[in-house]
Formats: sequence, C-alpha cells, structure tokens
Amino acid sequence: MRNFLFGVVLGAFGTVWAMGALPEQIANVLNDKLGDLASVVGIDTDNSTDTADETDRSASAEGSGGFEAADALRRGGVYQNGHLVEVFTCPGMAISNEPPVDADDRLKNFKPLIKVEGVTLAAAPVSHGCFSSGFGDRDGKLHKGVDYHSEAGSTVYSAGSGTIVEAIYRDDYGHMVVIDHGNGVYTRYAHLKDFASGITQGSSVTGTTKLGRMGQTAGYSVPVHLHYELLLGDFNMPAKSFGLEPKDPMAY
Ligand SMILES: [Zn+2]
Repeated sequence: MRNFLFGVVLGAFGTVWAMGALPEQIANVLNDKLGDLASVVGIDTDNSTDTADETDRSASAEGSGGFEAADALRRGGVYQNGHLVEVFTCPGMAISNEPPVDADDRLKNFKPLIKVEGVTLAAAPVSHGCFSSGFGDRDGKLHKGVDYHSEAGSTVYSAGSGTIVEAIYRDDYGHMVVIDHGNGVYTRYAHLKDFASGITQGSSVTGTTKLGRMGQTAGYSVPVHLHYELLLGDFNMPAKSFGLEPKDPMAY
C-alpha cells in the first residue's frame, strides 16, 4: 500500500515538474491524486491523525491468515463523503442480529443513505469499520443501535445535517454525541475516544462534520467501536435523549 501510494505521488510530481509548475500547484496536484486514491480505498487523507486507519488495515491484513490485503481493505468498508457506501461484517466475530450478507460477507440491501421522516442520514457514518452488531435483542436486552468496529479506531462523522444537543461523557456510553436532525429525528454516537474541535452542545453539523474518533470509552470494558443509534420522538422530555425511541437504521 505504502509503495503504491509513493508511486502515485512520484508520478504526479514528475508530471508537474516537467510542466514547470509552481510549488503551490504541485501541492494541489498531489492532494488531488491522494484524494482520488483515498476515495477508491477508503483512506481519509485530510487529517494526519487518521493514519491510524491505515495501520488498522495493515494489522488486519497480517492477522487474518490468508486474506489478500485488498480483502482486508474491503472489510473495513468503502468510504465516500463522510460515510461508508459498502459495509462488510467483521471477520471471525459472532454478530447478533446480522443483516443478510453475500458470499463476500458484504451487507446485502445496504443503503448508504437512508430517509427517515424526510431526513437523509448515513447508515454507517465512519471512515473505516466493519459491522459488529445489529439492532435488536442481544443476550436478552435490547441493543438500541448498530455497531461498527475498527481496531485502531477511525473517524466518526455526523450522519446528516443538524444541531448537537448533547456532547457529554457517561459511564455507560462513554464520550457521546446526540444530534437533532429536525422532524423528531435524532442520532447518537457512543464510546468516542474524544470530541473533534468545535463539537459541543449547540454546534451545527453537516453530513461530513467530524465528531471525533471511534474509541472504547465507558465505565466498563468495551472493544473499540462506534455504537450508533437512530432515535425518534420528542427530545424535550425529562429524560432527553433517553426518552426517545430507538429504531433500526438498517430497516429503512
Ligand atoms: Zn452497540
């Protein structure tokens, strides 16, 4: 992967060098080339801390016993504009309430963007991750959302436009963000490693706003993952986001 990237960079550099371009133009061409490549393999190039995504891919390629690197890449999903457009189940995991998958463990019938009460939302608002748990009964309790796992953590984005109504730490949900998308539609993001800058109560967000990184924050031990909830109802009740009704984002 690194050699391939390096080759693309050198190739782009050679082209603009021959044309006698200014350094700023060279930088722009390199950014474009890297952006194109990122949209193919799902790397998020606009934040230096996101190199963890690449580390994660290398680790999963080595640890998966025979997978081609390309297979491991695909199992982290295919990323575009703040969400995954293809999602795979996590290899070797027992996944509760697993949606139907094809022969490559790709979620069948997966809709990258869902429409809920007229609001468009991403179903997998992460830069990289595999599907590790579905919505519904899990060990006799209701799992109120869906989970995406990435061992090294990846970027978590807002699922759509809206306003942050909660950005707090709780022992059960760790660093948690709740967004009001209007029309009684809300989303919750739990166990974040941290909050991205500007992510506080009252902030406006769009479908490509970074909320933070996938983490494992909670008062108990959890794997690195995003717990993502779709919630409907009236936030202005005493229970706030915990008075809302959880829905399965895969059911839309
Ligand atoms: Zn969960």
